[in-house]
Amino acid sequence: MGRVRNFISFDLEFWYDSEFIKDKKKASEENDLIVESVNRIKRILNAHNTKATFFVTGKIMEKYPNIIKDLSQNGHEIASHGYSHTMLNELGRDDFEKEMELSREMIKKITGENPRGFRAPSWSISKDEFWAYKILDNLGFKYSSSLFPVNMGLYGSSKFPVLPFKPLENSNLIEIPISPFEVANTRIPFSGGVYFRILPKKLISFFMKKMNERGKSVFLYLHPWEFCPEIPKVKTSLVGKITTYYGVKNNEKKLDYILSNFDFCPFKTIFLSDKNL
Ligand SMILES: [Zn+2]
Repeated sequence: MGRVRNFISFDLEFWYDSEFIKDKKKASEENDLIVESVNRIKRILNAHNTKATFFVTGKIMEKYPNIIKDLSQNGHEIASHGYSHTMLNELGRDDFEKEMELSREMIKKITGENPRGFRAPSWSISKDEFWAYKILDNLGFKYSSSLFPVNMGLYGSSKFPVLPFKPLENSNLIEIPISPFEVANTRIPFSGGVYFRILPKKLISFFMKKMNERGKSVFLYLHPWEFCPEIPKVKTSLVGKITTYYGVKNNEKKLDYILSNFDFCPFKTIFLSDKNL
C-alpha cells in the first residue's frame, strides 16, 4: 500500500468577498492586504518546502497579475475560483460559463497553461448546481473541489460523498470534496476556514493522523486573509464575526505546526501516482 498523500489549497480572494461581510465593507478596497497576506503564506510554505494550489478569482488576477505569475513560477498550482466570487445559484448557467471562460483565459495568459482545477465561491455547488460540472468539463477543467459534505446552513450537504468521485457519466472530471472527520455517523468539518481556526492544532493533527491511518487523504482549504490580523473590523452578525476574525492571530503558528507534522502537495498531483511525484 502506498503512503497516503495530503493536499493543501488557498482560496485567493479579497478578504471582503465573504458572504457574511460582502455588503458591509466600507472603503476597504484600497487596503486589501493581498501583498502582505500572500507574502506571509509564501514564507510559511517555503519554510516547509511545500507547494500548494491557489484557487484565484479573476478580480485578483486583474489587479495582481505579477503575484500570480510569481506563485506559478515558484511551482505552485494556479487554479480558478471564478471571476467575481459570486455564488453559482446567483450567477446561473450562462454567466457561470462566461466567468469560467474568462478565468481560464486569464490563467492561461499569466501562467502559460490551462488551469486544471476549479473551486466554487462559498462552496456554492449544491445538488441544484450539478450543471456546473458539464460546463467545467467542456472548458477542459479536470477537477473541481467545490463540495462541502457537511450541512452548514449557508452551504454544504451531508448527503454528498466524502471521497473524490466522478460527477459526470461520460467524463473523467473529478470532484474532490473537502475532508470532514467521520466519527460514528457524524461528519465534523475541520480541514479549513473557520473550523481550522477554531479547533486546537492537536485535535486537527489527531483527525489527520486518524484519517491517514484509515487510508484517506486530507484536503485542506485556507485563505491568505485568514493569516492577516490587520484586516479591518466591520460590523457584522455574530456568525459573521466568528467566520471572519476568530483565530486569525494564531493561524500562522497553527499552520506551521501542521506543516511540521505532515507533508502536503498541490491538488493537481492527485492525478499522479506516487512514483511520479
Ligand atoms: Zn472564496
